[in-house]
Amino acid sequence: MAEAQPNDCIFCRIARGKLGTEFVAESEHSVAFRDLHPQAPVHVLVVPKRHFAGLREVGDEDWHVTADALALAARVAAEQGLYDGGYRVITNDGPDAGQTVWHLHFHVLGGAKLQAGLG
Ligand code: AMP
Repeated sequence: MAEAQPNDCIFCRIARGKLGTEFVAESEHSVAFRDLHPQAPVHVLVVPKRHFAGLREVGDEDWHVTADALALAARVAAEQGLYDGGYRVITNDGPDAGQTVWHLHFHVLGGAKLQAGLG
């Protein structure tokens, strides 16, 4: 599996503020910004500042980073007004799941009735 190295990883560059991407929220270990190609009225990506190619790369000592990201996902959902209608948080890990950016991220989707089913 081709994995981007941090130096040429687009999400590393965004998280470091190199591309001027506007963050909708930030926490100690994660940033949140709008997806370039939104699949729902609200589509925000929550991205750990540290590079992991995907969920499978998170080591035993690093799960606090994913906890931080999920907490930020819930905060984003609240701040974007998604608590009443509900929202979805997903991560794609690997080609069969459709992962295209090889830096761990969580999609926060909401603002409309989402398609039922998980794949
Ligand atoms: P995935 O297919 O789960 O790896 O999701 C990658 C997501 O990143 C896609 O929804 C893309 O639209 C989104 N994306 C790629 N590049 C950027 C970017 N520069 N800024 C915001 N979103 C991006």
